[in-house]
Amino acid sequence: MSLRVLSLPDPRLRAVCAPVGQVDDEVRALAKDMLAAMYAAPGRGLAAPQVGVMKRLFVMDTTWKEGEPSPAVFVDPVVLARSQQLARGAEGCLSIPGFTVEVERPAAVRLGWTALDGSAAEGWFDGFAAVCVQHEVDHLDGRLCIDLLSEAERGEIEARFAGAAA
Ligand code: ZN
Repeated sequence: MSLRVLSLPDPRLRAVCAPVGQVDDEVRALAKDMLAAMYAAPGRGLAAPQVGVMKRLFVMDTTWKEGEPSPAVFVDPVVLARSQQLARGAEGCLSIPGFTVEVERPAAVRLGWTALDGSAAEGWFDGFAAVCVQHEVDHLDGRLCIDLLSEAERGEIEARFAGAAA
């Protein structure tokens, strides 16, 4: 199934998603479709609410644009730990097309999640992968990277999308 990526001001981007729980064939099919939609966008990360599925799941591939694909699927991800060290970087979002924002986040995070085979997984992410993981987990709680900007800067970007609802 071909999925459409939602953009601001769609209210689904501001909702808190429900846990997936059991990983079944439906979840695996969704993950496959989300990876396809992410590559087509083209992007490096895509969370389920961005395609209108209000479940805690995201897909990521931080290296494919450099010619080395590394597709990954994270079901029911939880940030278990954050580094005290912060890193500032540029972030874009497929749901906020045309904008790149400079924001600060922990430089490294430890994530726990369920893999597509149903097993529990855990690992540290740093560099761009840390940025991506935090950006995508935020989506599952209805948070967007523009929320890390000042209220004025966020308002300016949101105003550009006001009235853009189909
Ligand atoms: Zn995003």
